[in-house]
Amino acid sequence: MHCPFCSAEDTKVIDSRLVAEGDQVRRRRECLSCAERFTTYEVAELVMPRVIKQNGSREPFNEEKLRAGFQRALEKRPVPIEDVEAAINQIKHRLRATGEREIRSLELGELVMDELRQLDQVAYVRFASVYRDFQDIAEFRDEIARLEKDSVAN
Ligand SMILES: [Zn+2]
Repeated sequence: MHCPFCSAEDTKVIDSRLVAEGDQVRRRRECLSCAERFTTYEVAELVMPRVIKQNGSREPFNEEKLRAGFQRALEKRPVPIEDVEAAINQIKHRLRATGEREIRSLELGELVMDELRQLDQVAYVRFASVYRDFQDIAEFRDEIARLEKDSVAN
């Protein structure tokens, strides 16, 4: 990269180390022309996709909102906060891994439901009943029956 002092094109890396718990690479560089030294940081670009809402508008992914959704579903449930944070991290990981720039809010909801189903079935049903907007009691009953079948199978 160009030297920030004299704009020469050739600079060499004289030291390279991991910082920020391995999330960044810090490099010391030296300009081959003027011998000035400077530091660069390299980080992976992991952009969270934007969320496409039901009405078609877009909004940035909001981790706090996601966390609030979990907390609402898990209110008074015996689930450790560490497990909730792990679930949130898992969702963020899956979102980044898609490489997509946008994700439909429905898909995000499905990811949340995947995690809640493993964390706590009551919370899962709470979330799903709001999210899937069960049309009638029969649909709700089907979902409960499916859960019961799953837990027997496990
Ligand atoms: Zn220079």
